[in-house]
Amino acid sequence: MNIALIAHDKKKDDMIKLALAYRNILKNHNLYATGTTGKRIIEETGLKVTRFKSGPLGGDQQIGAFVSEDKIDMVIFLRDPLTPQPHEPDVSALIRLSDVYEIPLATNIGTGELLLRGLGEGFLDWRNAHHLCSRL
Ligand code: PGA
Repeated sequence: MNIALIAHDKKKDDMIKLALAYRNILKNHNLYATGTTGKRIIEETGLKVTRFKSGPLGGDQQIGAFVSEDKIDMVIFLRDPLTPQPHEPDVSALIRLSDVYEIPLATNIGTGELLLRGLGEGFLDWRNAHHLCSRL
């Protein structure tokens, strides 16, 4: 599966905790992240991550483009609801596109943990069937 990981600045520590706790599951998947989130995950967990631009510089939009091309199977976006973000329209656009394409999306660590546990249990395997059907 292709998993997108994004965290606003005050949520980056939570993302690292999540990635460390579920490292054994995440290491079996292709990970994508916005610039700074990805850098921290690589440095602090040793996981392999493909990095896009930093969120405020277009990284959220790059991930949104991947979602619209059916290249992302799950999004964990630990957003900070208490701090104004200069790129708020991009944040809303990524959340909207995840809903448009019915991609499982977590916006906080609680749901993020549920999604990762589900991933480990194979709850997302329907995405493989979906990819096969869309290739026919
Ligand atoms: P960052 O971007 O990982 O580069 O900090 C995240 C965001 O703010 O959308």
